[in-house]
Amino acid sequence: MPSVNGARQAPVPARSHGHVVVIGGGGTGGAILFDLVSRGFTATLVERGELTSGTTGRHHGQLHSGARYAVGDREIARECMEEVRILQRIAPEALEMNYGLFVALTQEDVAFGAEFIDACQEATIPAREIPVERALAMEPHLNPAIRMAVQVPDGTIDAWRLPLHFFASARAAGAKIKTFTEVVEVTGANGSVTGVTVRNRATDEEYHISADLVVSATGAWAGHVAARAGIDLPVTPAPGTMVAVKKRLNNMVISHLHPAGDGDIIVPQRGLSIVGSTQWQTDDPDTVTVPADDITYLTGRAAELMPVFADTPFHAAWSASRPLAGSAGTVEDGRKLSRDFLAIDHGRNDALSGFISVIGGKATVLRAMAEKTVDLVCELVGVDQPCRTAETPLLPHRAYYQPTPASRSDASGPDNSRTREVQA
Ligand SMILES: Cc1cc2nc3c(=O)[nH]c(=O)nc-3n(C[C@H](O)[C@H](O)[C@H](O)COP(=O)(O)OP(=O)(O)OC[C@H]3O[C@@H](n4cnc5c(N)ncnc54)[C@H](O)[C@@H]3O)c2cc1C
Repeated sequence: MPSVNGARQAPVPARSHGHVVVIGGGGTGGAILFDLVSRGFTATLVERGELTSGTTGRHHGQLHSGARYAVGDREIARECMEEVRILQRIAPEALEMNYGLFVALTQEDVAFGAEFIDACQEATIPAREIPVERALAMEPHLNPAIRMAVQVPDGTIDAWRLPLHFFASARAAGAKIKTFTEVVEVTGANGSVTGVTVRNRATDEEYHISADLVVSATGAWAGHVAARAGIDLPVTPAPGTMVAVKKRLNNMVISHLHPAGDGDIIVPQRGLSIVGSTQWQTDDPDTVTVPADDITYLTGRAAELMPVFADTPFHAAWSASRPLAGSAGTVEDGRKLSRDFLAIDHGRNDALSGFISVIGGKATVLRAMAEKTVDLVCELVGVDQPCRTAETPLLPHRAYYQPTPASRSDASGPDNSRTREVQA
């Protein structure tokens, strides 16, 4: 196996199965890029801003064991648990396995607790009730009136480092990454995608990148990007607010033991504690502002779990947008590759073959989303290459800042080349 900085890399098959352009430099795009090059495709990723400047760089950073979803959907929960185990093997540096505590505040919550533990166990999540006194000793800031505590293997993700592991590994395996490069058009001829026209946002220069397939991993912007291929993809951006205070008040992720709702998670993240979130809908994820009421509301919700939260100095409030799949047209016809994640083959739905949109999911399951998307890519081009990313330790995130000589010429940053037509 080739090695960069001493870390193993997925073997790169000598022959390319074709050139794929990935649009969107969030965690989903990064994981797809790495999976593509690992399976023998040449691949170029274009991101209109800096890497992780979309939803990826703004979420809470909860590593979901799946416990939060277990009562509602065992399969999503099971997938989260499986991916946590995989990420521990392939990217341990990006994770803090600090565990999670679900705490009951009311008798109703306690009644929900039994159903919760059963559901977790069915989803292979080792959830166990611990005595309230023990929970309070482990988390001294918890509301002393809690009535029940259940420990689960949640954790914290470094929202930036995890994707950088994938970007670094993809680039070392030959992928090209172009930041500050916005797709202005997805081009096609005779019903097949031919590539993307991009604008370098530093120089305003426009040029074309040819591709055999184009994968849009643009999250809340997926509808806007599909429109640049002339396709109507009903995706509704759904922003949510998070509030951080200037102290790490909890060791574990603290969640309210009740059906999922607003403001019921507090994540310890670096030197901060982050409560989230709310959710509303918008047309344009680029013009979202944080509603002032959300800050008061979320602070109050956090204080129900940890009263000291309300007295801890405010650090910041911000929002991130989820893509909500619309209920009509192409999305309903889309191919549901996971319970909460869609990969839409626009060849089947919109007569533009070779163009795929990826919608939904979670940061925790980015690798699984990539696996399923690249399985679809392989199916479309008739290639039989198994996914290897579950077994391949990724390069350290630091390797992203130390490009190999081969990758330095097309590393991130404005494209200075005079080339108008870029062939892989
Ligand atoms: C409030 C909130 C809290 C969350 N908390 C958690 C959590 O704690 N744990 C967890 O696992 N998940 C969490 N999630 C989910 C998680 O954040 C997302 O699933 C994940 O970040 C999505 O990544 P992505 O790469 O699909 O999208 P993004 O990170 O949004 O990436 C899309 C990229 O596409 C780029 N782009 C858009 N248009 C163009 C264009 N025309 N040309 C080029 N590039 C373009 C954007 O700039 C952006 O960088 C949370 C989500 C929200 C909204």
